[in-house]
Amino acid sequence: MNIQDKTLYYIGGVVRDELLGKKSFDIDLTYDGDAINFAKNIENAEILRINEPFGTVKIKYNNEEIDIASTRSEIYPQKGQLPIVQNIGCSLKEDVLRRDFTINALAKSTLSGEIIDYVGGLEDIKNKKIRVLHDKSFEDDPTRIVRALKFAVRFGFELDEHTKELQNSYLMNINYDMSYKRLQKELKETFDLNIWEAYERFIQQGIYKLIGVQDFSVPKYNFSKLIDEFKPENVWIIYIGLLPDISNLPLTKIESKIVESFANINLESNDDFAIYKAFKNIPLESVIMYSTVNPQAAEKYFYKLKDIELKINGDDLGAMGIEPSPKYQECFDHILSKKIENPSMSFEDEISLAKEFFA
Ligand code: ATP
Ligand code: MG
Repeated sequence: MNIQDKTLYYIGGVVRDELLGKKSFDIDLTYDGDAINFAKNIENAEILRINEPFGTVKIKYNNEEIDIASTRSEIYPQKGQLPIVQNIGCSLKEDVLRRDFTINALAKSTLSGEIIDYVGGLEDIKNKKIRVLHDKSFEDDPTRIVRALKFAVRFGFELDEHTKELQNSYLMNINYDMSYKRLQKELKETFDLNIWEAYERFIQQGIYKLIGVQDFSVPKYNFSKLIDEFKPENVWIIYIGLLPDISNLPLTKIESKIVESFANINLESNDDFAIYKAFKNIPLESVIMYSTVNPQAAEKYFYKLKDIELKINGDDLGAMGIEPSPKYQECFDHILSKKIENPSMSFEDEISLAKEFFA
C-alpha cells in the first residue's frame, strides 16, 4: 500500500501486528473525514465499491485492492446487537473510542509513520494486556469477551485486572438477547486456532455461559493433537459442539451433522470391529469429539483402523453368481473382521474369504 495522506491512517489490527512483529490478516485504513470523496480524488485509483451508509469504499490502486473507511462513531441502542452509525467523518479520536481494546485502537499516519495513541494502547502492547476502553464495553457487545480470549491466546496476553472484573460481572448477568451470529463468528475464529489453552480459559472463566449453557468442565482428554495430526476441516465445532446445548448458534449443515453424529455414537465394546463400524461412516470431527468420552477407542481408530477399506464390493459377489441379499453385508462384515486383524490382505484373499463364506 503506498497511498499517503496526512489524514489517512492505518488503524487497528495492522498497527498492533506491526508492533508485535506479526503478519497481518488484512490492512485497515481510516480516513479522517470523508473517505469516499477522498478516494474519488486519488489519481489512478479505480473505485470498485462504495458503501454510502457506512462511509466505506473499496478501490483498486497499483493492482491492489484497498478498503478505506471514513472515521465514524457508533452507538448501541440495543445492547448486544449491531451498533448503528452515528456520525460519519467524526474526529479520529471518536472513531478510536468505539473500538474494542486499547491494543486495537492505535492509528498510524500513512504519511509520517507517527503512531497516534489516545487510549494507552502502546503501553498495553508492551505489558501484554488486553483492556477495554470503557466499563460498558461488554454490555454493548458481549462478543468482545470472546474476542479478548482470542487475542489473549494468539499473542500470549492477559486480560487487565479491571477488564477481567468487568468480564466476570457481565458473565454473572448476561443479556441473552444478543447476536449469536456474531458470537459464533468469534467462537469460530478462536477455536479454529486449535489452542487447548483457549478452551481451558473459555471454560474456567465461564465464557461458555454466553451461549446459554449453565455448567461445563474441561474434558480430561486433550484432543488438540488429533486435530493437528489428522487435520479435520471443521475445527471449532469439535470444541463448541461438546457443550450440552448450543441450539442458540446458527450452525451450518455440516456442523450440525458433526454434532448429531457425535451424539448418536453408540459404541458397545472396545473391540476393533465395533470401533471400526461405529466410526467409519461418520465425520472425523465426531470421532475426535468422542475422544473425550472414550480416548482409547478414538486413538485406536485414528492410529490403527481409520484407513482400512475392503477392496471387494457387491459387483464382485454378483460376478461370483451370488444373488444380492442381506447376506452381502454379513459377508462384508466377515471379511472386514479378518482384514482388521490383517490389514495387508489382498483383493484375492478377500475373494477367497467370500467364497468360503458362501460355500
Ligand atoms: P485480526 O488480526 O483478527 O483481523 P483485527 O484487530 O484486525 O484482528 P478485526 O476483527 O479485523 O480485528 O477488526 C478490525 C478492527 O475493528 C479491530 O482492530 C478493532 O479496532 C475494530 N473492531 C472489530 N470488532 C470489534 C468489536 N466487536 N467492537 C469494537 N471494535 C471492533
Ligand atoms: Mg482484521
